[in-house]
Amino acid sequence: MSKLADPPPALFERLNPEQRAAVDHDAARALLLVAGAGSGKTMTLAARVARLVLDGADPQRLLLLTFSRRAAVELERRAAHALRDALGLPATRTPPRLPWAGTFHSVAARLLREHAAAIGLDESFTILDRADAEDLIALQREALDLGSTRQRFPLKGTCLAIYSRTVNSATPLGDVLRAHYPWCAPHEDALKTLFGAYARAKLQQQLLDYDDLLLYWARMMDQPALAAALAARFDHVLVDEYQDTNRLQAAIVRALRPDGRGVTVVGDDAQAIYGFRAAELRNILDFPAQYAPPAAVLTLQRNYRSTQAILDAANAVIEQAAERHAKRLWSERAGGERPQLVTVADEAAQAHWVADRVLERREAGIALKRQAVLLRSAAHGAALELELTRRRIPFVKFGGLRFLESAHVKDLLSLLRWAHNPRHALAAFRVVQLLPGVGGAHARRLLDTLAAAADPDAALQAWRAPAAARDDWAQLREVHAALRRSDWPHDVERALGWYAPRLEQLHDDAAARLADLRQLQQLAAAHGSRERFLAELTLDPPAASSDEAGEPLRDEDYLIVSTIHAAKGQEWRAVYLLNAVDGCLPSDLAGRDGLDEELRLLYVAMTRARDHLDVLLPQRFYVTQQAARGDRHVYALRSRFITPQVAALCDAIAPPSPFATSAGGALPAAPGLAAGVAAMWD
Ligand code: ATP
Ligand code: MG
Repeated sequence: MSKLADPPPALFERLNPEQRAAVDHDAARALLLVAGAGSGKTMTLAARVARLVLDGADPQRLLLLTFSRRAAVELERRAAHALRDALGLPATRTPPRLPWAGTFHSVAARLLREHAAAIGLDESFTILDRADAEDLIALQREALDLGSTRQRFPLKGTCLAIYSRTVNSATPLGDVLRAHYPWCAPHEDALKTLFGAYARAKLQQQLLDYDDLLLYWARMMDQPALAAALAARFDHVLVDEYQDTNRLQAAIVRALRPDGRGVTVVGDDAQAIYGFRAAELRNILDFPAQYAPPAAVLTLQRNYRSTQAILDAANAVIEQAAERHAKRLWSERAGGERPQLVTVADEAAQAHWVADRVLERREAGIALKRQAVLLRSAAHGAALELELTRRRIPFVKFGGLRFLESAHVKDLLSLLRWAHNPRHALAAFRVVQLLPGVGGAHARRLLDTLAAAADPDAALQAWRAPAAARDDWAQLREVHAALRRSDWPHDVERALGWYAPRLEQLHDDAAARLADLRQLQQLAAAHGSRERFLAELTLDPPAASSDEAGEPLRDEDYLIVSTIHAAKGQEWRAVYLLNAVDGCLPSDLAGRDGLDEELRLLYVAMTRARDHLDVLLPQRFYVTQQAARGDRHVYALRSRFITPQVAALCDAIAPPSPFATSAGGALPAAPGLAAGVAAMWD
């Protein structure tokens, strides 16, 4: 097809020569662009889309894939803008659509719907989200009576995780169990039976879980006729964040274009952070050799995102990685503020400091949206979320549920709310169903009775529970009555005393959840009354919070709180990394094999920052012990990845604790005191 007339749009002139080479690369041969964080990989990919269209490619026949939902939105937005600029359309025009841009999963869903009939599916199939999938597994688990075996059988969430890992890594179940779930290995046969039943149930009901989307797509690509039909729909396949693809995804890309024609993948091996979801770092390392001739490999060295001061520290972190393509990033944004290592007393002080800083920077002109707080694990945001809620700083959380929305926190708060207001039907409904043997129908009857009663307390005490739940019911009645007579803040401890044993039955990760609840207990102690505490937690009704819930209105300004995993591909002017202490980063759940991935996580977090990077080091940190020793506060150590070499590239600060003098104002000075103590023995 004929090329459009020159001159090249400004879009291409902005690119540096290496980026240009990648954009102009001859599509006859596969291309791997491997380069460090912030070097313009995504931007180059977007510009390549524009270049291909200018050269005659049909936007309907471009397949543009990436990994996480947020990254997909960003990639599509950038590609569409690049296309608009390249076509010389005014900026006011809605950018042209790229109908086949999305995550692997969303594209899979569309293709499967279109080809459902050909593969024995009904085109009206339903997609199960994780929670639905867990429930379906739980049903099969119950039907097979696996819960009652003598050795404790993994709970539904763990079963699904094992299933998912097995499917995505295309590895035999036994190997997955031995490598990642050794404590479940004795159940291999039972798990196989369970997964068989789960798969049959899905087929019978025409349900597909997330993993099925990839699995079915990959299986379609195994059928030569189908594979040819699918491959014929696309002229180009472009993949961002290729380092995080798993075996199924790599197989799909390969099968779509076996000769490598029209394939472009970009990625950074130093940012591979999805190993725990069966991503294969080998995919990017082995990519060139799978084609004949081998794929061309291009790299980029210049970082356009961060100041040199931030890059120096990030480079010093990733240099510790055992295995990687050596890439040292440099930036023309010389100087800049050095990253700060901020030592604070504990997580409460950390939350306080971050909230102060966020507001200060907003005053200085950095909108909340251009700032992000990053967490290794969504569960570690509790203190911060409460502080933000208390100060009415709007925020959106990406990756994981908000603390206040997680099931165990809701359970405990529901008990407190119900005790506070015996007519609180929603809270009661949730709590009574925590009892084994009490289902929705029974709970409904109880609620109707309570609603009709003149004295709900008396009605509750008189209620007759199903026989199977009698003992549990008596305990609940007792704790409810005790909580009615509130003894704040000990109420939380009492509620927890009732709830903790139930946690063990409800969740495999009971220890981590218990740690959350202990945090809640501490936070409660900082509030004068139960009423105040409950009121404060409900100030900010949990809407649009998790990734699934969609985004709030566009004009609103809100701070981003995100897991590091969900932050990839993105950038902010100011980044606050919480809990950079051993046990959290690296996570104490990572194990030795996982250490490199933890190091890369730190690297990903640091390289999100454009101008300001604050790394928080709480001195006391709440750890969850898997073993019987229970949870406790420990004196935390700075993350082992922040070596003296890294620290030397940062500024250390230790702000005074915001709580030190909160009770009685500043302490009166007594400078001679220490000398007096020393002189005691004179
Ligand atoms: P990550 O590894 O984090 O995904 P990346 O390599 O995909 O990063 P981009 O997000 O594409 O990097 O680019 C980082 C920033 O640098 C963006 O703000 C982008 O607009 C800017 N940028 C990239 N290339 C150039 C360039 N040639 N001129 C000016 N700005 C650029
Ligand atoms: Mg990118």
